Amino acid sequence: MLDTPFFHRWLTAAAASVTRDAARLTELDSAIGDADHGTNMQRGFAAVAEALDKERPGSPGAALILAGRQLISKVGGASGPLYGTLLRRAGKALGDAEEITPQQLTDALRAGVDAVAQLGGAAPGDKTMLDALFPAVEALAGGGSFAAAAEAAEKGALATTPMLARKGRASYLGERSIGHQDPGAASSALIVAALTEAAR
Ligand code: ADP
Ligand code: MG
Ligand code: MG
Repeated sequence: MLDTPFFHRWLTAAAASVTRDAARLTELDSAIGDADHGTNMQRGFAAVAEALDKERPGSPGAALILAGRQLISKVGGASGPLYGTLLRRAGKALGDAEEITPQQLTDALRAGVDAVAQLGGAAPGDKTMLDALFPAVEALAGGGSFAAAAEAAEKGALATTPMLARKGRASYLGERSIGHQDPGAASSALIVAALTEAAR
């Protein structure tokens, strides 16, 4: 069973890894965007970690909803509302249960990822965060471990390099977006990988 401290550890670990890799995320965004993805993620997740410490949400669902709200209000880029929607929608799906099963987490994440696709109008193959998030959810749904999900997300993120961007700022570049990894897919891989740290 996954309890509230598990979610606290997950989001805190995600904050640490986007902070550690902020320069790389911004570097990726400088090639096909506006060079702010690392700072956006760092600022957003710092606010998430601070809010969790201060407000101490009482359930996994409440923790995800709080985190999503922080991202929406603190990140002034496409990624803020998209990641915020992912976490808020997943949190809503969990309701107010104090402990949830891995299957419930998988279903909640699927609902969150679907909401991101709906909000952004993107599909897998469009060179966005969804190219890491969808494979991660598929891996979990297939009975895979968090490590397997992390591997699927990382593989999905790397697979964005040869893609042509069809959504977001990178799409303005057309063919010139080819040959660069999508920054949001890279940050999604970090967030999924943080699940393995929370499970320890
Ligand atoms: P901005 O582009 O506003 O500066 P960020 O740099 O923080 O925002 O985030 C860019 C990332 O957001 C992209 O690399 C991509 O993964 C993701 N993204 C942008 N638009 C969409 C969309 N419509 N659907 C899904 N993901 C998107
Ligand atoms: Mg950007
Ligand atoms: Mg921006």
